[in-house]
Amino acid sequence: MISLKRLEELTSLKHDAFIVSAYLRADPRLACDRHQPLTQFKGLVRRFDQFCPDRARRDALERERPRIERHLQGLGPSSRGVVIFACEPAGLWEPINLDVLTPSHLAVETRPVTSFLMRIIEQYPRLAVMVVQKDQGVIYTTELRRGGERARVESEVQGRHDQGGRSQSRFQRHIDYQVRVHLKDVIDALARLQTENPFGRLAIGGTPDTVAEALRLLPDSISKRVIGTFPIDFKHASEDEILEQACRINQEYERKTEQELVDRLDEAKHPGGRGVVGLDQTLKRLAEHRIDHLIVAEQVELKGTVCEKCGHLDTRPFDHCPACGAAGREADNIVDLAMERALLDGARIESLEGTPRDWLREHGGIGAILRY
Ligand SMILES: [Zn+2]
Repeated sequence: MISLKRLEELTSLKHDAFIVSAYLRADPRLACDRHQPLTQFKGLVRRFDQFCPDRARRDALERERPRIERHLQGLGPSSRGVVIFACEPAGLWEPINLDVLTPSHLAVETRPVTSFLMRIIEQYPRLAVMVVQKDQGVIYTTELRRGGERARVESEVQGRHDQGGRSQSRFQRHIDYQVRVHLKDVIDALARLQTENPFGRLAIGGTPDTVAEALRLLPDSISKRVIGTFPIDFKHASEDEILEQACRINQEYERKTEQELVDRLDEAKHPGGRGVVGLDQTLKRLAEHRIDHLIVAEQVELKGTVCEKCGHLDTRPFDHCPACGAAGREADNIVDLAMERALLDGARIESLEGTPRDWLREHGGIGAILRY
């Protein structure tokens, strides 16, 4: 992923020789089609060359194109979105892999287009993993829902041991007290992390008694973020196995929330309700800025028409835009444009997999929960 700090640095960049910003949607389940983001990029370049009247921008894109294509060719199948910022004269080359559905978008401007990325990162529920033992605690954060990338160690807390001869029972009580003091230290570290680099979800692993004690000690602001706990056999489990378990819990949680979202949509999709399904209704509500959650079935692609002037999106082809009268252009996948628009509107984007995705596909592949 990318840190907020780096993203802020990128946002402040400016170069007169133009910076290429490419956002590409990828689908890890289409692993057989390794060049999927590459195919998309080529399509975006063709369209840019066709529609951009500015020669200097087209030249700038041509300057960066070979390097971007080489990068996309060598890409593994693990990401769902790829973002690249490139400007050779500025020494800028920033490829970012995302595990979040990204609308495909290509821009050649004097500044990098970071707005979508900013929204995506804001919306992304970061996972923190707290691993507790009686005498040590480790906190990880991971940007990925599926694993595959190393998690970052945010904090390691060693227990405070104190020596001295004591009777067995007093020693036992002392250990319990020490364990609690130690767990408090780990939780303090977690609370600091939450202030500095907030996470939306927390998974806790450890021996059952330590996990139970940690749960008791968590402040409310953090305990409401707990999505699950898991037992760890510290003698045998490797760090990778521990993190894999946490990722599995995260995936289960995701499937559950996706199902809940679909149930909510199903209940609200009646006329006058706060939910719509199908492209036609969704685009209408998007134009009214009423969308709170845009919900997209993964892999769905829908054709539509976009107004070159005001950006009006429609399911039907038009020669004269119903909003401004300008000419329309056919869009191969209007879902990308709808996602862009929704992101800029401050809506959340949710992509569905599995059974929820099948349900949404039967209802037009796209839908929305409305603000009002
Ligand atoms: Zn228009």
